[in-house]
Amino acid sequence: MADDRRKCIGIMTSGGDAPGMNAAVRAVVRSALNRDVDVYAIMDGYQGMVDGTIKKMEWKSVSGILNLGGTVIGSARCKEFRERPGQKRAAANLVKNGIDRLVVIGGDGSLSGANEFSEEWSALLEELVADGVISREQADAHPALEVVGLVGSIDNDMANTDMTIGADTALHRITDLVDALASTAASHHRTFVVEVMGRNCGYLALIGAVATGASWVLIPEMPPAPGWEEQMCKVILSAIKAGRRSNIVIVAEGARDQEGNPISSAYVKEALEKGLQREVRLTIPGHVQRGGTPSAFDRNMSTIMGCRAVEKLLADDDSTESSIIGIRNNRPVVVPLVESVQKTRQVGQEIAAKNYDAAVELRGTSFRQMLDIFSTMMQPVPEHDEPDGKQHCFAILTAGRPASGMNPAIRTAVRVAMDTGHKVIGVQEGFMGLINDDIIEFDWMTVDDWIRKGGTELRTSRHVPRNSDLYMIAKNIEKYNIKGILMIGGMVGYEAVHEMYKHREVFPAFNIPIACIPATINNNLPGSEHSIGADTALNSIVESIDRIKESSDGSGRAFVVEVMGRYCGYLTVMSGLASGAEVMYTHEEGITLEGMCKDLERLSKAFKQGRNIALIIRNECANDIYNTDFICSLFEEAGGSLFDVRKTVLGPIQQGGAPTPYDRVQGTRLAYEGMKFLLESVDSKQGKYMEFGMEGGFTARNPVSSMSKMVEWELQRPVKQWWMDVLDMAHKLALPKYDE
Ligand code: ADP
Repeated sequence: MADDRRKCIGIMTSGGDAPGMNAAVRAVVRSALNRDVDVYAIMDGYQGMVDGTIKKMEWKSVSGILNLGGTVIGSARCKEFRERPGQKRAAANLVKNGIDRLVVIGGDGSLSGANEFSEEWSALLEELVADGVISREQADAHPALEVVGLVGSIDNDMANTDMTIGADTALHRITDLVDALASTAASHHRTFVVEVMGRNCGYLALIGAVATGASWVLIPEMPPAPGWEEQMCKVILSAIKAGRRSNIVIVAEGARDQEGNPISSAYVKEALEKGLQREVRLTIPGHVQRGGTPSAFDRNMSTIMGCRAVEKLLADDDSTESSIIGIRNNRPVVVPLVESVQKTRQVGQEIAAKNYDAAVELRGTSFRQMLDIFSTMMQPVPEHDEPDGKQHCFAILTAGRPASGMNPAIRTAVRVAMDTGHKVIGVQEGFMGLINDDIIEFDWMTVDDWIRKGGTELRTSRHVPRNSDLYMIAKNIEKYNIKGILMIGGMVGYEAVHEMYKHREVFPAFNIPIACIPATINNNLPGSEHSIGADTALNSIVESIDRIKESSDGSGRAFVVEVMGRYCGYLTVMSGLASGAEVMYTHEEGITLEGMCKDLERLSKAFKQGRNIALIIRNECANDIYNTDFICSLFEEAGGSLFDVRKTVLGPIQQGGAPTPYDRVQGTRLAYEGMKFLLESVDSKQGKYMEFGMEGGFTARNPVSSMSKMVEWELQRPVKQWWMDVLDMAHKLALPKYDE
């Protein structure tokens, strides 16, 4: 029997499984062990609690699980736990193991079950004492059960949190599937219906539709008006006429009409076949959406939330009220469990009561914005051929190195401006095209399938215009009568815009609005916590590392992986967190001989205790002298017979690939905001220069004039980098403390 004076945490996964749950389990187990707290896995959700299948966890118990889908500690639906006798058995099992702090990872059902259990805890223990199952001392040692929930749900349907565990991965599955369908559909000019999960929540359907350039979407929160079948067919027929080769209709499984009657995907297929007079195919990916390896985002968010859950359970506060760890504005937050579950269920109630506006309102502002964006992007032709007033010309260019997500951003900007009757030109090869007059004119359909294309179709360059270049740029702005520029790019693009900003007085042509949209895999831009392309790069790195680790033959081996990022350690730290790297070297922290010796000592101890694989990730510019070859040689020599070393420089694979759903959606959102700003500011003569970015989960804007203060120019990175907060966590979760 456990010592009742010791703090002791139980962890369980319950209800529907979701990719990313394992990362949360690992984080809970290891951060508890780091604080010398015992931690027990309750196997198979409430079933294990009722049956007493409870397993003490060690550091090694959660090794090698970050890349696994599902949950390694099992999940189940358990009828017995809904009844008093089952709950009594569950409470007795917890008390016998000394557990009175509980992390529950599950959906709203599992979390409200846990809350009710915690509210009944004292009464249950009294009954157990009366029945003679536990002693009075045991009951007194555990006066309360504190519950902290993490939301595992691919639907992203919980109130008070921006994302739930598994939703990003489910979007990966949907996007991959629709991309694959789109290529076969395009070959035959076909229309496909895809049914995605979401009974009361249209998140996956709506975001999936934005991320795949779908032609129509049906979601529970926004039932279509009567006659929608004809309208849908009309839109698709005109899309076919306009040249869209693949038409995809996405249907949430809970879609319904305004009367509340379900709209099945089979019905949508039939309606399309009738209206289009051609064969339509239906695909239902089903459980594929919740399966497979978790995305980098799901691994990292779950890890951060798992650590925060342990902190909450061990905090010296008297509160035992059940709470949830959510993500708000890109940071973990503690929110009340009961209120969050109630608010979540309210959406379902509003839908059932046909209060659809209220349901959309409860989903939050970015859901509403996505609906607006989708309604523009899905159109087969612009809504207005002529603007209300004068027709203006806007220019779009991409600068710096290519980043996945640039094309979706261009696509959005083109359509937002053309939709109100304006003209949009594309500048080829970044600022070089503006100097050399290398310009194309966009039409609506050219950009149709750019949503899934990596890199940039406009090509790019790293040239920063100076001196006479600026004169040529001014000349071409006047030649094309450009009334606003949308620059999508990395630090060199920002520098170029800054250069134009400084010369506004010399060149009056520069007094036009300019919007900078952050796009670089390095994620090193001012005024934005995330830049377009960084998520795709991160996922490529993490996938490569998963494969590299699998190549190990079981003998002791350390892999040294060099990743990009210039002087910014974002990719190093985030890929390290997502793949469980034992050592991470960044320029921000620096590399010292002393530090490397300590790392070697820790690694050697781990190998001596049975570990047979280790991962060292080094940022390409972490240190000039202690480069990747140096580190490999040092570790190889010091590893002796314990481990050998393999070097991998990931190189350009980090820059390519189809954009991830996150990059597609952020590219779309940022370009939408950027182009709206240009449209609003077109009459301003002052040359408004604005940088756009994602700050705390929202789009934010900062004047270019403030850029100097926000950037360390020699190191090409922002002065403040939010992700530095997770560095310590990444270091602590990979190797146990050996010092004591
Ligand atoms: P999810 O957590 O994914 O929403 P469910 O609603 O099926 O999944 O809940 C999973 C399990 O949680 C149930 O099988 C049951 O054991 C437990 N549970 C759910 N709701 C309650 C409740 N109100 N009281 C007690 N246990 C509950």
